Amino acid sequence: MSSLLVRAPAAETEDSPDDQQTEQDAQDLAVAVAAAFLLTDDEVATLGEAILTARVASWQATYSAAAKTAGATLPDSGPTLSAAEERRQQRESDAAAASIAATYARDLASQAAQFTQDWLTAHDGSLDGAESALRAHLTSYSETRADAKASQVAQYETGVGGQDGLLAAHDDLTSGDLTDASGDPFTSLTGILYVAILPEDSSSDFCADYAGNVYSFDDAPALDFPAHVNCRHYCVFVTAADFGDGEAPM
Ligand SMILES: [Zn+2]
Repeated sequence: MSSLLVRAPAAETEDSPDDQQTEQDAQDLAVAVAAAFLLTDDEVATLGEAILTARVASWQATYSAAAKTAGATLPDSGPTLSAAEERRQQRESDAAAASIAATYARDLASQAAQFTQDWLTAHDGSLDGAESALRAHLTSYSETRADAKASQVAQYETGVGGQDGLLAAHDDLTSGDLTDASGDPFTSLTGILYVAILPEDSSSDFCADYAGNVYSFDDAPALDFPAHVNCRHYCVFVTAADFGDGEAPM
Protein backbone atom coordinates (compact mmCIF):
# COMPACT_ATOMS: atom_id res chain seq x y z
CA MET A 1 0.00 0.00 0.00
CA SER A 2 1.41 3.29 -1.00
CA SER A 3 1.70 5.85 1.74
CA LEU A 4 0.80 8.50 -0.84
CA LEU A 5 -2.76 7.21 -0.92
CA VAL A 6 -3.45 7.36 2.78
CA ARG A 7 -1.59 10.46 3.79
CA ALA A 8 -3.91 13.35 4.44
CA PRO A 9 -3.14 16.40 2.35
CA ALA A 10 -1.27 19.09 4.23
CA ALA A 11 -3.66 21.71 5.54
CA GLU A 12 -3.17 24.68 3.30
CA THR A 13 -4.46 27.08 5.90
CA GLU A 14 -1.80 26.20 8.45
CA ASP A 15 0.58 29.09 9.01
CA SER A 16 4.19 28.59 8.07
CA PRO A 17 6.81 29.74 10.61
CA ASP A 18 7.27 32.84 8.42
CA ASP A 19 3.55 33.61 8.55
CA GLN A 20 3.54 33.18 12.32
CA GLN A 21 6.49 35.55 12.62
CA THR A 22 4.73 38.13 10.43
CA GLU A 23 1.60 37.78 12.54
CA GLN A 24 3.62 38.34 15.70
CA ASP A 25 5.36 41.35 14.10
CA ALA A 26 1.98 42.81 13.14
CA GLN A 27 0.69 42.47 16.70
CA ASP A 28 3.88 43.97 18.14
CA LEU A 29 3.65 46.88 15.70
CA ALA A 30 0.02 47.52 16.61
CA VAL A 31 0.81 47.57 20.34
CA ALA A 32 3.90 49.78 19.93
CA VAL A 33 2.25 52.41 17.72
CA ALA A 34 -0.96 52.49 19.79
CA ALA A 35 1.10 53.03 22.97
CA ALA A 36 2.19 56.44 21.69
CA PHE A 37 -1.46 57.54 21.58
CA LEU A 38 -2.40 56.49 25.10
CA LEU A 39 -3.22 59.21 27.63
CA THR A 40 -0.35 59.89 30.03
CA ASP A 41 -0.93 59.91 33.80
CA ASP A 42 -0.69 63.70 33.70
CA GLU A 43 -3.32 63.89 30.97
CA VAL A 44 -5.65 61.62 32.94
CA ALA A 45 -5.16 63.79 36.04
CA THR A 46 -5.90 66.93 33.99
CA LEU A 47 -9.03 65.29 32.60
CA GLY A 48 -10.12 64.44 36.16
CA GLU A 49 -9.62 68.09 37.17
CA ALA A 50 -11.67 69.31 34.20
CA ILE A 51 -14.48 66.89 35.05
CA LEU A 52 -14.42 68.04 38.69
CA THR A 53 -14.61 71.70 37.65
CA ALA A 54 -17.58 71.01 35.37
CA ARG A 55 -19.36 68.93 38.02
CA VAL A 56 -18.91 71.51 40.78
CA ALA A 57 -20.07 74.40 38.57
CA SER A 58 -23.16 72.43 37.60
CA TRP A 59 -23.75 71.35 41.21
CA GLN A 60 -23.68 74.97 42.41
CA ALA A 61 -25.85 76.29 39.59
CA THR A 62 -28.49 73.60 40.11
CA TYR A 63 -28.43 73.93 43.89
CA SER A 64 -28.91 77.72 43.61
CA ALA A 65 -31.77 77.35 41.14
CA ALA A 66 -33.46 74.76 43.37
CA ALA A 67 -33.12 76.94 46.46
CA LYS A 68 -34.48 79.92 44.55
CA THR A 69 -37.51 77.97 43.31
CA ALA A 70 -38.23 76.98 46.92
CA GLY A 71 -37.89 80.60 48.05
CA ALA A 72 -34.96 79.68 50.29
CA THR A 73 -32.29 82.13 51.40
CA LEU A 74 -28.81 81.32 50.12
CA PRO A 75 -25.68 82.45 51.96
CA ASP A 76 -24.05 85.53 50.37
CA SER A 77 -21.08 83.38 49.44
CA GLY A 78 -23.37 81.19 47.33
CA PRO A 79 -23.82 77.46 47.73
CA THR A 80 -20.79 75.51 48.89
CA LEU A 81 -20.17 71.81 48.79
CA SER A 82 -19.56 70.15 52.13
CA ALA A 83 -16.09 68.67 52.61
CA ALA A 84 -17.53 65.17 52.23
CA GLU A 85 -19.39 66.17 49.04
CA GLU A 86 -16.23 67.78 47.68
CA ARG A 87 -14.28 64.57 48.32
CA ARG A 88 -16.98 62.48 46.70
CA GLN A 89 -17.02 64.67 43.58
CA GLN A 90 -13.21 64.49 43.44
CA ARG A 91 -13.22 60.71 43.76
CA GLU A 92 -15.93 60.24 41.13
CA SER A 93 -14.24 62.68 38.73
CA ASP A 94 -10.94 60.82 39.00
CA ALA A 95 -12.73 57.51 38.50
CA ALA A 96 -14.53 58.89 35.44
CA ALA A 97 -11.22 60.08 33.96
CA ALA A 98 -9.59 56.68 34.60
CA SER A 99 -12.52 54.90 32.99
CA ILE A 100 -12.41 57.19 29.96
CA ALA A 101 -8.67 56.52 29.58
CA ALA A 102 -9.19 52.75 29.85
CA THR A 103 -11.96 52.74 27.25
CA TYR A 104 -9.82 54.87 24.95
CA ALA A 105 -6.89 52.44 25.36
CA ARG A 106 -9.12 49.48 24.45
CA ASP A 107 -10.51 51.27 21.40
CA LEU A 108 -7.02 52.24 20.24
CA ALA A 109 -5.73 48.68 20.64
CA SER A 110 -8.60 47.30 18.61
CA GLN A 111 -8.22 49.96 15.89
CA ALA A 112 -4.47 49.26 15.63
CA ALA A 113 -4.91 45.48 15.54
CA GLN A 114 -7.59 45.72 12.85
CA PHE A 115 -5.53 48.14 10.80
CA THR A 116 -2.42 45.92 10.74
CA GLN A 117 -4.52 42.85 9.85
CA ASP A 118 -6.14 44.73 6.98
CA TRP A 119 -2.72 45.96 5.91
CA LEU A 120 -1.31 42.41 5.75
CA THR A 121 -4.26 41.28 3.67
CA ALA A 122 -3.97 44.20 1.27
CA HIS A 123 -0.18 44.00 0.95
CA ASP A 124 0.37 40.31 0.41
CA GLY A 125 1.56 39.66 3.95
CA SER A 126 4.13 42.46 4.01
CA LEU A 127 4.33 45.04 6.76
CA ASP A 128 6.47 47.42 4.69
CA GLY A 129 5.08 50.93 5.15
CA ALA A 130 2.55 49.79 7.75
CA GLU A 131 4.05 51.70 10.66
CA SER A 132 3.70 55.22 9.24
CA ALA A 133 0.30 54.38 7.76
CA LEU A 134 -0.89 53.10 11.14
CA ARG A 135 0.42 56.22 12.86
CA ALA A 136 -1.50 58.42 10.41
CA HIS A 137 -4.62 56.29 10.86
CA LEU A 138 -4.51 56.50 14.66
CA THR A 139 -3.85 60.25 14.53
CA SER A 140 -7.00 60.82 12.54
CA TYR A 141 -8.95 58.25 14.57
CA SER A 142 -8.00 59.79 17.91
CA GLU A 143 -8.84 63.32 16.74
CA THR A 144 -12.25 62.38 15.42
CA ARG A 145 -12.98 60.34 18.53
CA ALA A 146 -11.85 63.10 20.90
CA ASP A 147 -14.28 65.57 19.33
CA ALA A 148 -17.20 63.20 19.69
CA LYS A 149 -16.29 62.02 23.19
CA ALA A 150 -15.53 65.44 24.65
CA SER A 151 -19.07 66.73 24.23
CA GLN A 152 -20.49 63.39 25.37
CA VAL A 153 -18.36 63.44 28.54
CA ALA A 154 -19.10 67.11 29.24
CA GLN A 155 -22.84 66.56 28.91
CA TYR A 156 -22.89 63.48 31.13
CA GLU A 157 -20.62 64.85 33.87
CA THR A 158 -22.39 68.20 34.13
CA GLY A 159 -25.63 66.23 34.27
CA VAL A 160 -24.34 64.14 37.18
CA GLY A 161 -23.04 67.23 39.00
CA GLY A 162 -26.38 68.96 38.54
CA GLN A 163 -28.32 65.96 39.82
CA ASP A 164 -26.08 65.80 42.92
CA GLY A 165 -26.67 69.54 43.48
CA LEU A 166 -30.43 69.07 43.20
CA LEU A 167 -30.39 66.21 45.72
CA ALA A 168 -28.20 68.25 48.10
CA ALA A 169 -30.75 71.08 47.89
CA HIS A 170 -33.52 68.54 48.51
CA ASP A 171 -31.67 67.33 51.63
CA ASP A 172 -31.01 70.86 52.89
CA LEU A 173 -34.60 71.98 52.26
CA THR A 174 -35.85 68.92 54.14
CA SER A 175 -33.39 69.11 57.04
CA GLY A 176 -33.81 72.83 57.65
CA ASP A 177 -30.26 73.73 56.59
CA LEU A 178 -31.92 75.92 53.95
CA THR A 179 -34.45 78.31 55.43
CA ASP A 180 -37.20 80.54 54.08
CA ALA A 181 -36.96 84.32 53.74
CA SER A 182 -37.75 84.70 57.47
CA GLY A 183 -34.95 82.34 58.43
CA ASP A 184 -37.36 79.56 59.41
CA PRO A 185 -37.02 75.97 58.22
CA PHE A 186 -39.59 74.76 55.71
CA THR A 187 -42.15 72.57 57.43
CA SER A 188 -42.93 70.57 54.32
CA LEU A 189 -42.48 71.20 50.62
CA THR A 190 -44.60 68.24 49.55
CA GLY A 191 -47.41 69.57 47.39
CA ILE A 192 -45.57 72.87 46.96
CA LEU A 193 -42.49 71.80 45.04
CA TYR A 194 -42.51 69.10 42.38
CA VAL A 195 -39.80 67.42 40.33
CA ALA A 196 -40.03 67.71 36.54
CA ILE A 197 -37.95 65.63 34.12
CA LEU A 198 -36.74 67.75 31.23
CA PRO A 199 -36.49 68.04 28.27
CA GLU A 200 -39.99 66.77 27.59
CA ASP A 201 -39.06 64.70 24.56
CA SER A 202 -36.89 61.58 24.43
CA SER A 203 -35.35 59.37 21.79
CA SER A 204 -34.58 56.53 24.21
CA ASP A 205 -37.11 53.96 25.35
CA PHE A 206 -36.08 54.19 28.97
CA CYS A 207 -36.31 57.98 29.24
CA ALA A 208 -39.55 58.18 27.23
CA ASP A 209 -41.34 56.84 30.31
CA TYR A 210 -40.10 59.82 32.36
CA ALA A 211 -39.48 62.76 30.02
CA GLY A 212 -41.91 65.61 30.61
CA ASN A 213 -43.42 63.97 33.71
CA VAL A 214 -43.85 65.76 37.02
CA TYR A 215 -43.28 63.89 40.30
CA SER A 216 -43.76 64.57 43.98
CA PHE A 217 -41.01 66.47 45.82
CA ASP A 218 -40.52 63.34 47.93
CA ASP A 219 -39.65 61.29 44.84
CA ALA A 220 -36.54 63.37 44.05
CA PRO A 221 -34.01 60.90 45.57
CA ALA A 222 -35.49 58.05 43.51
CA LEU A 223 -35.22 59.88 40.17
CA ASP A 224 -31.75 59.22 38.82
CA PHE A 225 -30.81 61.31 35.79
CA PRO A 226 -28.86 61.38 33.55
CA ALA A 227 -29.95 57.77 33.19
CA HIS A 228 -27.28 56.65 30.73
CA VAL A 229 -24.42 57.93 28.58
CA ASN A 230 -25.79 60.48 26.08
CA CYS A 231 -28.88 61.02 28.25
CA ARG A 232 -30.02 64.66 27.97
CA HIS A 233 -32.48 64.46 30.83
CA TYR A 234 -32.28 66.19 34.17
CA CYS A 235 -34.48 66.83 37.19
CA VAL A 236 -35.60 70.30 38.14
CA PHE A 237 -37.83 71.60 40.95
CA VAL A 238 -40.98 73.32 39.75
CA THR A 239 -44.05 74.76 41.43
CA ALA A 240 -47.65 73.98 40.50
CA ALA A 241 -47.70 77.24 38.53
CA ASP A 242 -45.00 75.84 36.23
CA PHE A 243 -47.00 72.96 34.81
CA GLY A 244 -50.39 72.76 33.16
CA ASP A 245 -53.41 70.63 33.96
CA GLY A 246 -52.30 68.09 31.39
CA GLU A 247 -49.17 67.35 33.38
CA ALA A 248 -50.60 66.33 36.72
CA PRO A 249 -47.96 65.07 39.14
CA MET A 250 -47.42 61.33 39.11
ZN1 LIG B 1 -32.47 60.51 28.96
